[in-house]
Amino acid sequence: MDIKSMSLKELEEMLKNMGEKAFRAKQLYQWIHEKQAASYEEMSNISLDLRKKLEIEFPLLRLKKIQVKESAIDGTRKYLFGLPDGNVVESVWMKYHHGNSVCISTQVGCRMGCRFCASTLDGLERNLLPSEMLEQIYAIARDTGERVANIVLMGTGEPMDNYDNVVKFVRLITSFEGYKLSQRNITISTCGIVEGIRRLAKEELAVTLALSLHAATDEKRKQLMPVAYKYTLKEVLDACEYYFQQTKRRVSFEYSLVAGVNDNLEDARELWQLVKGKNCHINLIPVNPIKERDFKQSEKKQIQQFKDFLNQKGVTATVRREMGRDIDGACGQLRRSHMNKQ
Ligand code: SAH
Repeated sequence: MDIKSMSLKELEEMLKNMGEKAFRAKQLYQWIHEKQAASYEEMSNISLDLRKKLEIEFPLLRLKKIQVKESAIDGTRKYLFGLPDGNVVESVWMKYHHGNSVCISTQVGCRMGCRFCASTLDGLERNLLPSEMLEQIYAIARDTGERVANIVLMGTGEPMDNYDNVVKFVRLITSFEGYKLSQRNITISTCGIVEGIRRLAKEELAVTLALSLHAATDEKRKQLMPVAYKYTLKEVLDACEYYFQQTKRRVSFEYSLVAGVNDNLEDARELWQLVKGKNCHINLIPVNPIKERDFKQSEKKQIQQFKDFLNQKGVTATVRREMGRDIDGACGQLRRSHMNKQ
């Protein structure tokens, strides 16, 4: 009964079953996804009668804006949204010259257990529905009055652990009758679930894949990411290569720099050996320390050295600009501080 998660086809089917004309489906779909209507009341070209019926049988999902924090440095906004079942998720809005980006959550909590990540500390609560991912975007677009141009699935959750809903979300947000976001402007980030990467490669979607690498050897990766016990680096990188072959989209590798753990020149050398000759881009992220763990951010000089080494070897690597440093930066921290207050 989750009308915001329905494709145009599913809407047609549903209206037909209600004894309505099929063309109504497109109108309804456009109200929901193109105009992001907040209520049935706004849907002026749909009969009052049908609107009333829909209101009762298919309540439109709305997220409750519980908290918004805005950075005084760069205007980044962190949103904490309430879901109908009382759970909360966070999303981030970032302003860039090339358009606004939103980072969304794909699950409530996460069960991947990455050592430096705040989102996983309490485990997985549940998957998000396509509508609950969409609404993070629509609610922010409504709140800011500005269009969202880029979406990154880098908030709380592992997208490949909620595969079907994530793919459905991508199809909805990029649909021609809906928000019309370009598939190329969506990045799906994964800790490296091999089956998911291979499946996504065959969906015929032009989305960017980002792999959370964080270490260049299996041993070191295991210390940071439990998922490395399940898949070797070779298996994960082969899957990324397959993704590139199928989609011709350059894969991004995320590498969070943790002081004294994975940030010295030897690590950079190993990373270079690993990605040499691949068509990829390395995103170096100064780790965002969380209070539950004692990982520290690498020194600026160390980060620069690491990046320079890769660049000299001909590898494209950039350091991610930290956005919203003054507003509880790391993934999952806003949600946690909210839960701890209750
Ligand atoms: N589960 C997916 C997407 C969500 S995490 C994934 O693992 O890719 C998005 C990115 O933020 C990942 O690269 C993740 O490793 C990184 N990340 C998580 N916590 C971080 C922290 N405290 N500092 C820096 N990067 C972090």
